[in-house]
Amino acid sequence: MNRISLQQQLDQYAVPADLAVSGPDDKPVCTACGHKCELAEEGARGICRLRFNQNGRIMAPFGYVAGAACDPIEKKPLYHFYPGSEAFSFGMLGCNFQCEFCQNWISSQALKESRAGTDIQPCSAEKLISTARSKNCRVVAATYNEPLISTEWAVSIFRLARGQGMACCYVTNGFASIEVLDYLEPWLDAANVDVKCFSDSSYRRLGGRLQPVLDTVRELRRRGKWVETTTLVVPGFNDSEEELRRLTEFLASVDPLMPWHVSAYHADYKVADTRNRTPLATLYRAVELGREAGLKYIYLGNVAVDGEFVDTRCHECGEILFHRQSFSARQTESFADHKCLKCGTDIPGRWN
Ligand code: SF4
Repeated sequence: MNRISLQQQLDQYAVPADLAVSGPDDKPVCTACGHKCELAEEGARGICRLRFNQNGRIMAPFGYVAGAACDPIEKKPLYHFYPGSEAFSFGMLGCNFQCEFCQNWISSQALKESRAGTDIQPCSAEKLISTARSKNCRVVAATYNEPLISTEWAVSIFRLARGQGMACCYVTNGFASIEVLDYLEPWLDAANVDVKCFSDSSYRRLGGRLQPVLDTVRELRRRGKWVETTTLVVPGFNDSEEELRRLTEFLASVDPLMPWHVSAYHADYKVADTRNRTPLATLYRAVELGREAGLKYIYLGNVAVDGEFVDTRCHECGEILFHRQSFSARQTESFADHKCLKCGTDIPGRWN
């Protein structure tokens, strides 16, 4: 008996998309991400390959997960969003980018790479939220693959999560459309946005563009969402002083108190050279450049460091407010009611 392909399997769970409009000549256009693919013909697929035209309607992925687990919120990474809490994390398959160094390509490129070999598990939003509740998760996170491309599914889960008092977040590449941000607005509390580099030509190499990502960071902030950003520093791709300087100046222009996570890279996916890890010195230099740009909360990730690179310290007096070790966070006696008790400064974030 022939086994159906992964794509056929996923299509069985697809539902009519909310994030779609009629474009020129009444052709359907997907608005779930910044690509805004026109899916004119029957069977046409977007760049993500997950959304497609069926009988003149755009269909969106729904009703399955490729991964679901309770993770520390620090792992997302979100350091100023209910630190120390558990985030019920779920992901599907696929991505609207194709980064050659993707650290999660088994999920993100599952439809483009037969060697990914990823299975899915059909499930309902109710089942996921009852699992999250039974594990006392404070937060629900759409993560692992790019959640923008399956926002209808994420929102169906977030609606239930909110009803149970949980906070909802996205871990995203930020290549969003205004339509998807509008759709998410009532349900989203926070996001970690990847700012992968500061060059439009490099973004195009990954399958996107720089400006929509920068717009997403500003727009989420304008809408009152809690935002942290992450940059995976990849040797030879985005680690020049000039690029890191411009990137950090942009972040500081949004808000110097917005946390920036600087993440170490290891070879993965299409990059075979396993020696090509981010040197510690490069990460420290990125931190220095961020500080020079005025950023107050810079954290290192994917690397064995502690102290000043992972703890949260008051941006005014330097008092330690949260100690971190291996994705666990411990609040110190110097923090209460959103404030540093040593100097009385309000600390930006969402706190228990
Ligand atoms: S989610 Fe993005 S990539 Fe996928 S079809 Fe829609 S606009 Fe295209």
